[in-house]
Amino acid sequence: MKLGELLLKATGSTPQTGNIKGVCVVCGTEVDNGIPLKECVSDNFTGWSYFFAGNCMCPECAYLFSDQTFRRKSWVALLHGYKVFKNDDAQQILFNPPDTPFFIHIAKTGQKQTWLTCIHRVAHNPHRYFFSHEKYDVPILFEHDRAATYIQIIAEAMAKGLTKTELTTCEFKMKTWQKAIESGYRDFLRELTKFKGDILWEVLVDVYRKAD
Ligand SMILES: [Zn+2]
Repeated sequence: MKLGELLLKATGSTPQTGNIKGVCVVCGTEVDNGIPLKECVSDNFTGWSYFFAGNCMCPECAYLFSDQTFRRKSWVALLHGYKVFKNDDAQQILFNPPDTPFFIHIAKTGQKQTWLTCIHRVAHNPHRYFFSHEKYDVPILFEHDRAATYIQIIAEAMAKGLTKTELTTCEFKMKTWQKAIESGYRDFLRELTKFKGDILWEVLVDVYRKAD
């Protein structure tokens, strides 16, 4: 199932069809009911680099561009429902996704359609699945146990006063090092540097909220 098909089912929508025989630039499917690109994206569309060779969009992929909410908001889609969510709820949703198949997108500024890298990445396993986050131009793999470990470490680090910026970059201020040495957790801080460049880690730092 492609992402466009899931969203059509999720929202209970009927796709618009066209009459172009060709190849969809988004998913690569050959179609004979394709829709012209200029009817799908506006003149100021900036996501051309996501597209493949082709000359139209299939009805399912065209649907992805028909509603700006898909770009502007964080959302979760499943077969019988679609809902936008606040990023305060993202951690909870990642760890407790709905029934499969589903797909989760986390928006930040609402500018980029990074789910375009996930057209063929609809989730079928709640413990191990791909999702999209606006800061990253790649599908992000969520693995439940690894993510749960990360969240524990992030909670511990934040309780020690580390900032999200430090945790995201894994570069720590001088005074953070000093405090760690004085308080006896230098090794903990040093261990954190192994997460540098780990996208799942960075996303979990972003969505982490302190438990009530
Ligand atoms: Zn398509």
